[in-house]
Amino acid sequence: MNHSATVAVERCEDYDEAAVTAAVAAAVENAGGLAAAVSPGDRVLIKANLLAPVPPEAAVTTHPAMVKAAIAMVREAGGEPLVADSPGFLFVGGEDSAIEASGVKQACDEMGADSFQFEQVERPYVETEVPGGQWLSSIYAARLALEADAIITLPKLKTHENTMYTGAVKNMFGAVAARTRKKAHRAGSYERFSAAVVDIFSALKPGFAIMDAIVGMEGSGPRHGEPRQVGLVLASPDPVALDAIATAIAGFRPGEVATTRIAAGRGLGIGDLGSIDIAGVSIREAAVRFRKPGGLKRNLPSFLFAVADRLTRVQPACAESVCTQCGQCRLACPVAAISMAPYPVIDRERCIECYCCNELCPTGAMELRRSWLARRLV
Ligand code: SF4
Ligand code: SF4
Repeated sequence: MNHSATVAVERCEDYDEAAVTAAVAAAVENAGGLAAAVSPGDRVLIKANLLAPVPPEAAVTTHPAMVKAAIAMVREAGGEPLVADSPGFLFVGGEDSAIEASGVKQACDEMGADSFQFEQVERPYVETEVPGGQWLSSIYAARLALEADAIITLPKLKTHENTMYTGAVKNMFGAVAARTRKKAHRAGSYERFSAAVVDIFSALKPGFAIMDAIVGMEGSGPRHGEPRQVGLVLASPDPVALDAIATAIAGFRPGEVATTRIAAGRGLGIGDLGSIDIAGVSIREAAVRFRKPGGLKRNLPSFLFAVADRLTRVQPACAESVCTQCGQCRLACPVAAISMAPYPVIDRERCIECYCCNELCPTGAMELRRSWLARRLV
């Protein structure tokens, strides 16, 4: 690991496609280029943030213009781009898909690039070890992430009620199954949950980060805050260093954001501002003081996360009246949680809530049943 890092910071005031493409190209080049992360012929996963089925103006999801620019950069480096994410589990299988509502699917179609929500592919999640994991010794990670030759994290600059801030490191949280996300939440406190997020980042470790900080989100992020004009694009081969600079620009104190501090402490990147070279706009010139999220969710005791889990369940269940007993759900289940007797029966202890049985059922019989509270939260 080098003991210094470069983060490029470029001005870009709006989402005009030509302006965004130029800003991203300049930022990537000033950060040293993609060559160290992407080799010609590589299948490159661009991990956007598609948290919820809302339009780009809501400032919840990575903007489609940023996705297009990232696709262009990957192609220029000789890579084959693939764009993916999974929304928060409450939104999976809902009437609107996040990838369509966010405009990202259309952007990818226009660029001729593949795009998916992780749960939309066969065998979507695979159990994988987390060497040195502090809270998670193994995770159910997206197969598309594990099989990619390279990963680029493409987050949006936002506050986060649980982790204070979400950027390049936290963005990888969307690349694991709901079961793993819930397990991470049950770690409890701000520090422990942040350590679990870093476990996931360490297992998937993206080789480059490009941040949509043109319009960010302040206050009650990542979903219910207010859009905030920032006017920047950031890029770095070191996602931890990028987070250190982005959080400094947004007005967080050094070390205040635990995911950055913990990732740097584990040698996964550079967190010390004094060891990071900025190419472009300085922190002082770029500074915007974000309204920070309230502290309530960060300080919940862990047993309340377990209660919240139960109250917000989204579980697959077979509607026998339309089930043809074809068994495709059993074959599709990555953890063999489904047996046929003669209709599908789900072992709830084994189920990792990947929801691919729902995606792949040809008749719509495998429904996602939402608890009373889950229905009201979407
Ligand atoms: S895939 Fe659908 S129709 Fe086929 S057995 Fe499963 S629930 Fe029934
Ligand atoms: S039962 Fe369905 S949701 Fe659960 S792990 Fe199997 S395929 Fe995924």
